[in-house]
Amino acid sequence: MNAQASTPTVFDVQRIRADFPLLTRTMHAQPLVYFDNANTSQKPTAVIEAVASHYREHNANVARAVHQLGDEATAAYELARDKLAAFIHASSRDEVILTSGTTHAINLVAYSYALPRLAPGDSILTTVMEHHANIVPWQLVAARSGATVKAAPIDQRGVLDVDAYVGMLTPEVKLACVTHASNVLGTVNPVQELARACRRRGIPLLVDGSQAVPHRPVDVQALGCDFYALTGHKMFGPTGTGALWARREHLEAMPPFFGGGDMIREVRFSGTTFADVPHKFEAGTPNIAGFVGLAAAIDYLHGLDLAAAHAWEQELLAYATGRLAELPGVRIFGAAPDKVPVLSFLLEGAQATDLATLLDLQGVAVRSGHHCAHPLMQFFGVPATLRASFAFYNTRGEVDAFVAALCKVRKLLA
Ligand code: PLP
Repeated sequence: MNAQASTPTVFDVQRIRADFPLLTRTMHAQPLVYFDNANTSQKPTAVIEAVASHYREHNANVARAVHQLGDEATAAYELARDKLAAFIHASSRDEVILTSGTTHAINLVAYSYALPRLAPGDSILTTVMEHHANIVPWQLVAARSGATVKAAPIDQRGVLDVDAYVGMLTPEVKLACVTHASNVLGTVNPVQELARACRRRGIPLLVDGSQAVPHRPVDVQALGCDFYALTGHKMFGPTGTGALWARREHLEAMPPFFGGGDMIREVRFSGTTFADVPHKFEAGTPNIAGFVGLAAAIDYLHGLDLAAAHAWEQELLAYATGRLAELPGVRIFGAAPDKVPVLSFLLEGAQATDLATLLDLQGVAVRSGHHCAHPLMQFFGVPATLRASFAFYNTRGEVDAFVAALCKVRKLLA
């Protein structure tokens, strides 16, 4: 046996926690338990300092100035593109469009790629487990073009019916979409398998990577998809940052979505020529400081033993699932064999929002509601769930505090 492989890596969660200042906060006189990471993650000092130091020492606009500060800001912004490209194993930095997040990235594909190609009778395939960001943009462009949106089914465990998905890849489908990991169920979808099926039929595949990128290595080339959208604030970077990765051939063929400064080569009233990719999709002043922070977040992640961090998250998920399952009247949503650390549930006799409000008073931050996934709620026949979602800085002690708080507030509601 390989001696190295048999030695488990010890993940020093207390050392990691020291990197995240917000985790030392108290909430309603209790130590904060932050279990809303699928919504947005906390930021390490390295990210906070990178943003502050950008504004303190390097602030200027990008791509427009000939002065030194402008060069520094442009270099820092473009460095974020390099780091993101490397992080998701893009073959070229030019395939990475910097956006305000996944929502912006998917809308870019909807209006620049899908809309010009859709005709009455065409359709876009998505799934029942999607976030509204991977449903509504398709409905909007379908409404303008006479196309329709169809959704592949899932089962009661929250697992995608892959055969049904593949069976729905009929010739009128002009684009297929799927989330890499569900924000409600945690389900990780078999993107590689879906991408192979799409490629065989000549249908491009868009993947919503928002919930996968913070929890597992992503290699867009190995996945074999055509478009990959991600958001920076769930991967320990600032809000208002994200990216669209797309195959170069698609980007070259797509017209710009937003028009304005920075995305042009030459503007005349007789017609405008556009900058090369990726800049033709980045009109206006971007979130420069945000991307400086995102670059720092990527550096921070590279500085961790990411395999150990991800293994720790899985350990927390298994522990929390086991602890919750012991409670009488609990219903857990999402029992896929491969999950990101997201745990949705309901307790019999208590409203999700009441529980979340009372948990907050115990210092525990969880999300309650429909999680921007109305069709998924309709599938399970519930209006809302509670969702505890973990990051590598969470602890088993916090899971115990959460379960104890849950038992306490449940009694208050009885
Ligand atoms: N897709 C999924 C699966 C998500 O969880 C989210 C955010 O919760 C989004 C898309 C939207 O991301 P953003 O609001 O950063 O654009």
